[in-house]
Amino acid sequence: MDQIRELYQEVIIDHGRHPRNFGSLEHPTHHAQGFNPLCGDQLYLDLFLEGDIITDVAFRGEGCAISMASASLMTETLKGKTIAQAEQIFHDFHQVVTEGKVNHAAELAKLGKLSVLTGVCDYPARVKCATLAWHTMHNALSNQTEVASTDDEAS
Ligand code: ZN
Repeated sequence: MDQIRELYQEVIIDHGRHPRNFGSLEHPTHHAQGFNPLCGDQLYLDLFLEGDIITDVAFRGEGCAISMASASLMTETLKGKTIAQAEQIFHDFHQVVTEGKVNHAAELAKLGKLSVLTGVCDYPARVKCATLAWHTMHNALSNQTEVASTDDEAS
């Protein structure tokens, strides 16, 4: 394991153990529930939007370190973003973790902290753990009341 991977691992463990923005919002404007049956990861996501800007985010749930770390990192990433920006980041992140496009420095820079999760592309079974929070965000933003399931995703 190279040093960069080791560093990434530490960030994932840290966020998995001490998730940021863990809890719920008092008056969320959008919320959704997500479930990854493959691993048993479950989470609830609350968003507060002013206009089309996400000003507050919180999540709670139970799952593996990757799903919790991914949700935690996502909440930090989403604050201050517009809906369009959030969906664009989801798109980029999804592409990187499913297609393993991690060789481009520009791609990584665009993802910022989320780049710590790009290593999951080597572990197809864990990709859904990493993308669950984002599917849940997508459902929340599009006011879908169905539970976001990673089952819908082609693997
Ligand atoms: Zn998981």
